[in-house]
Amino acid sequence: MRTFIYNFLLVISFWSCTGQKAQKAYQVMTVNGLIDSGEMGITLEHEHITTDFIGAEQVKQPQYPVSQAVEFMLPFMNELKETGVATLIECTPEYIGRDVLLLKSLSQKSGINIITNTGYYAAADKKYLPSHAYTETAYQLADRWTNEWENGINGTEIKPGFIKLGVGKNSLDSIEQKLVKAGALTHLKSGLKIAIHTGSSIAAVDEINILKNNGVDSRALIVIHTQNCTSPEQIKLIKSGCWISLDGISQNPESIEQYSNFLIAIKQENLLGKVLISHDNGWSVIQNGDGTIGFELFGNKNEKPYSAIFSLLIPALTAKGFTQEDFDQLLVKNPAEAFKIEICTL
Ligand SMILES: [Zn+2]
Repeated sequence: MRTFIYNFLLVISFWSCTGQKAQKAYQVMTVNGLIDSGEMGITLEHEHITTDFIGAEQVKQPQYPVSQAVEFMLPFMNELKETGVATLIECTPEYIGRDVLLLKSLSQKSGINIITNTGYYAAADKKYLPSHAYTETAYQLADRWTNEWENGINGTEIKPGFIKLGVGKNSLDSIEQKLVKAGALTHLKSGLKIAIHTGSSIAAVDEINILKNNGVDSRALIVIHTQNCTSPEQIKLIKSGCWISLDGISQNPESIEQYSNFLIAIKQENLLGKVLISHDNGWSVIQNGDGTIGFELFGNKNEKPYSAIFSLLIPALTAKGFTQEDFDQLLVKNPAEAFKIEICTL
């Protein structure tokens, strides 16, 4: 009952922040409920824990007992907490292995805030799209995603903290356009920000236009994987209002140089306040030779997950004149600003 009343207040309050008694708060939705966005601390804004690449609707997911995954993953979460990371934003959508019970258990056991998502992933030749994504309208899809925000994911009380979509490299096709429109509709009802796996700046410009045509400001958009864009394209995207995410940072020296150069160019334009950085690390679900299920690191060439920013990128940028203030901007202030939701308390 308490949950019901709380949900009700939350939903009506999103639109009623103008009332005299209403008070605005900027919060984020974690798998354990809302926290103030100012409490997120050092945040890795694009990571995965488990991802299942078998394809949508092939098998029942998760393919493993949650207890097995908790036992395997918990040491990594504990280590991350020790390095000072307070929040991990988990970007695995439904139908590609999203496992909210695992995320909640890991969050409660490690003390790390974890944020999960709603939405569908149409990149990778649409291998991870359920069949209803083809037959339903943008409004029907938005209803499904909004329902997760209002009532919880798959019968749990766990709610999404952002909308995660994925599109390919080309100008968006009709299915991709529909998903982005559904994201816009969900944003308008929930306030959740829209993070999109994006293959190119051409696709990013299409996203911005679809959002605009549906009444959504580009400040609500996080363009994921802009490391695939050139430095001038990144700067142009930032100037159009959206957030850009440089999220494949690895221990490879070429990677550190590449990301350093991107960030130096953005700093020279005084635009560091619109960039997010992360590793895009995680584990894929695999079938062992004996038929049991295991986990394999997809490390972006990182043997040690979630660590290259701290062990290599920060020292490299410090040598190039970046300050502690710059790192706080990138790892604390920007994620809080990008993912915050305006909540009104009555
Ligand atoms: Zn990712």
